[in-house]
Amino acid sequence: MATLEHLHSGKVRDLYATGDGLLLLVASDRISAFDYVLPTPIPDKGRILTQLSLWWFDQLSDVVPNHVVSTDVPEEFAGRAILCRRLEMFPVECVARGYLAGSGLTDYRATGTVCGVELPPGLEDGSVLPRPIFTPATKAALGEHDENVSYDAVAATIGAHAAEELRRLTLAVYTRARDIALDRDLIVADTKFEFGRTPQGHVVLADEVLTPDSSRFWPADGWAPGRSQPSYDKQYVRDWLTSPESGWDRASGEPPPALPDEVVAHTRARYLEAYERLTGSRLA
Ligand code: ATP
Ligand code: MG
Repeated sequence: MATLEHLHSGKVRDLYATGDGLLLLVASDRISAFDYVLPTPIPDKGRILTQLSLWWFDQLSDVVPNHVVSTDVPEEFAGRAILCRRLEMFPVECVARGYLAGSGLTDYRATGTVCGVELPPGLEDGSVLPRPIFTPATKAALGEHDENVSYDAVAATIGAHAAEELRRLTLAVYTRARDIALDRDLIVADTKFEFGRTPQGHVVLADEVLTPDSSRFWPADGWAPGRSQPSYDKQYVRDWLTSPESGWDRASGEPPPALPDEVVAHTRARYLEAYERLTGSRLA
């Protein structure tokens, strides 16, 4: 890995190409909310998310192949970077939902469906769905929101065969992860996967998986449909940002303010707790 060519920086992660044709995926401690990168990082977040992804890739390896090659990375990225196979990514955010929340809830309230999938009447915020559903979204350009799309729209973009494969894999991986998490008293309400294709045409699970940044995790013992659920994601940060305490007026178009120390500490503790509950071990 003599040379590293910087390819891309998203809100949270930085991507480099290595001299030997691999990809280095580096998770920073940056945190985003409402499509802004907040001015205050969360210490250890990059390590927590990377270690959790690695744990999940391992748990799921008999369901789907993944892009991990090695965790032997330069010292400055130690613990928070993965060397991966460089794939041709499908331009689809592969979302699985087992429970109703977020944009799924918004769409259901407006239309009785999510991404064209019909759901029974009477569901509430946090309801469990009769079965997990595949609710794809388009990958938005920087600064824009992902948009829910129908299965047919995905099939029109990437072909019927690939769409079928992504739906099958998304639901299989979600179902396995849901069961593993439930054993540890955690609900995976929904989650987003990204898949890519090898030059040989094999579909591989990529990006980060089943982290608090890509999923809604709820403590099972706090679950009660009909209200928003306590969660291990950044809902706490969003709630603080929109509270009078933050002094931030979201509608003003001004960027969000710095996070006070106690909000940082609380957020870090939520991420760590998700990691420890799932993996059963302390962060190394
Ligand atoms: P943001 O998440 O801030 O909205 P983003 O998705 O562009 O923006 P990141 O998520 O930080 O930024 O960057 C990860 C990028 O790497 C994504 O574009 C993802 O599709 C891509 N990626 C992940 N794994 C692989 C892989 N194995 N091969 C090629 N690209 C990958
Ligand atoms: Mg991303």
